[in-house]
Amino acid sequence: MPDLERPYRLAARDGQAEPTVVTIGQLRIGEGCPVVVMAGPCTVESRDQTLTTAQWIKAQGATVLRGGAYKPSTSPYGFQGLGAEGLEILAEARAVTGLPIITEVMDPRSVELVCRYADILQIGTRSMQNYDLLREVGKTKTPVCLKRGMSATLTEWLQAAEYILLGGNPNVILCERGIRTFETYTRNTLDLAAVPALRELTHLPIIVDPSQGTGRASLVAALSKGAVAVGADGLLIEVHPDPKNALKDALQQVTPEEFAALMHGLRPIADAINRGVA
Ligand code: PEP
Ligand code: MN
Repeated sequence: MPDLERPYRLAARDGQAEPTVVTIGQLRIGEGCPVVVMAGPCTVESRDQTLTTAQWIKAQGATVLRGGAYKPSTSPYGFQGLGAEGLEILAEARAVTGLPIITEVMDPRSVELVCRYADILQIGTRSMQNYDLLREVGKTKTPVCLKRGMSATLTEWLQAAEYILLGGNPNVILCERGIRTFETYTRNTLDLAAVPALRELTHLPIIVDPSQGTGRASLVAALSKGAVAVGADGLLIEVHPDPKNALKDALQQVTPEEFAALMHGLRPIADAINRGVA
């Protein structure tokens, strides 16, 4: 008999006493660990753009490089990413900087390929309910960053995580990235209440993406601080050497200088809650 009162089990806090800590080399992501900052361009556009950004964010204290090679695009005319060539560029950036990489996988048929490059697989908001994709990444042991569907409730999101856990992959990180509301000034409404709410509901690590969450570069630093203050285990931040000319998400990517200031403002918050930045 299906137990409709318990829509997820493996993800539930009451099913596992210890918090899940996802490890990538020396890096630990989860409750009680130092705050992990993942940063980099929305999209891998070129070798130069990615390597420059990777070196900059590393110098400022980020510990994971982000960048999309396969990009979900609302418009079919929008840039779709460099694909396999983008993965090669990310691998080179990792070799140069030593930073692990997080990158999106959209197609169940690409999971094997993307796993050869990614230290963390990103499942985007538009794919949160692609159950075939969730099952496929569940067969791997590669950490998965599962973004919240833009219209998903916390229960639906945790049920999506359950698909991955049920497949045998325990390394799931949840990422709040904003939800659709009536407000249009911000691209999405970043639901910071989700962070302490999820802490009650699940043992999984929780990170926040203030870039997709606000859609405005000017708001990213404040929401990064807010996210850490409410207990996020990490941040996913878009940084571009020349945001105005970015091929995607031009309005929300911060410049390298803005990222440096953001990191400076973040440290006292992370220290105040006795976590520090990884
Ligand atoms: C992104 O991180 O660039 C992205 C496309 O995220 P989301 O799936 O949250 O829109
Ligand atoms: Mn983006």
